[in-house]
Amino acid sequence: MSVFNWYHASIKQKIGGLFVLLLSFLFFVIVYSGYKIKLIEKEMREVAYLDIPLSQIMRQVEFIELEQHLQFEQYQLKGEKPYQELKQHQQLVFQQQQLKSLLDRAVGLITESLSAKQLMLAQSEHEQVLSRIESYAQKSAAFESHLEQLFESQTLNDEQRSAMEQMAAELESAENAIIQQLNTITTNDVYYTEKHEKEFLFVSSLLGISAVVLGFLLTVYIVQIILQRIKRIQGDIKTLNASLDQGDSLSQETVNKITTKDELAELEHDIKAVMSRLAKEITCREQVEKQLLTLATQDKLTGAYNRHKWDEQIHMQLNLAQRGGYPFGLILLDVDYFKRVNDQFGHQAGDQLLKRMVSELQQRIRSTDMLFRLGGEEFAILLPMQDIESACKLAESLRSQMELLQVDNLPAFTISIGVTSYHDMDSEASIFRRADMALYRAKAQGRNQVVQQLTEE
Ligand code: GH3
Ligand code: MG
Ligand code: MG
Repeated sequence: MSVFNWYHASIKQKIGGLFVLLLSFLFFVIVYSGYKIKLIEKEMREVAYLDIPLSQIMRQVEFIELEQHLQFEQYQLKGEKPYQELKQHQQLVFQQQQLKSLLDRAVGLITESLSAKQLMLAQSEHEQVLSRIESYAQKSAAFESHLEQLFESQTLNDEQRSAMEQMAAELESAENAIIQQLNTITTNDVYYTEKHEKEFLFVSSLLGISAVVLGFLLTVYIVQIILQRIKRIQGDIKTLNASLDQGDSLSQETVNKITTKDELAELEHDIKAVMSRLAKEITCREQVEKQLLTLATQDKLTGAYNRHKWDEQIHMQLNLAQRGGYPFGLILLDVDYFKRVNDQFGHQAGDQLLKRMVSELQQRIRSTDMLFRLGGEEFAILLPMQDIESACKLAESLRSQMELLQVDNLPAFTISIGVTSYHDMDSEASIFRRADMALYRAKAQGRNQVVQQLTEE
């Protein structure tokens, strides 16, 4: 299971991830520096509490050793005088004791550090020094006892002298070896401490620089990502714009160039342009929809509702009447001898007459009434919430007004009207049949009249 899917992660997650990385890195820097400081502190303590006292002891040892060396040479030169020899012997022993006590202090310091596990540097060399001091102490004891014997016998032949010289030389070289080694150790310790300090400084600077570089890269990366996204969005907007243009010339908004170099401002501008274009597109679409609706519901020639709308509305009025007791009236009208108008004045004149008649009728009915062209020169008017009397009254007024209407250069025309109203249990067919029967009777009785039909006979 992948812990972090970089490719599919959001910008927020990516930035978060990089920050975690950066913080972990800085945490590492801090821990590492802390560790180094601790190490250097221990080493410094070792130098202060062990190496410096040791080198002081060694300087004293060197001094005593020099003194001893001189005295021993004197001792050899004035070997015949017993009194002198006694003094020399005592001094030698005394110095040997001093040396031993100094070396014991050194041993004490080293063993203390070793047992406290405070030694960071050259632990094995320190242990080696201890063993050297131990062997020196043994040699020194042997030398002292030899010196004691010589002093007691009060004689010093050549053989004994050369043996003593050899032992003294061995002792001296052992002392020198100890001094040499301790000197090396203390110098090495200082060298290592300095080296660690330099390392620490180098690593800290390196890590500091890395942190700065990482931060810089992170910033560049984030800015880069944001710019990339903006470019992609701008590309999408351009495509959207192009699809809105449908290959036409650029819109007004894109022609108006902006002066800023800020990518976000540019993006905002582009989005605004597209939004305004979309708003226009929506308005345009709404208008088209309105036109389509008009086309779907209205008669093209006269502007009256069409047959499709008639079917819908008569159905609705019947439903309302059946459910809630809302009655309605129905007028069916037909132009008398319309064929003659066409024949005498032409089809266009006939169209003109129909248009004019519809416009006149629309002005005379209520806004809630609806005028339908059912076909040819036959029309219907639905009168919601009106009974047969008011329907007849309206029909009569319409008939008389049409009789008096003068359409351009056309002769006067008349209309015949059949009127009915909603009855309980009416269907579309039954109510229409009654109105049609009334219209038929109006025609049959001589036209230009209103006939009402209350029942089916
Ligand atoms: P009636 O009094 O019995 O109704 O006689 P009429 O001549 O009006 O009736 P008829 O049904 O004989 O003739 C109707 C005519 O209406 C026939 C047709 O050419 C004409 N007509 C139908 N629709 C249109 C139209 O949209 N424009 C024009 N100009 N004439 C139309
Ligand atoms: Mg007619
Ligand atoms: Mg007709």
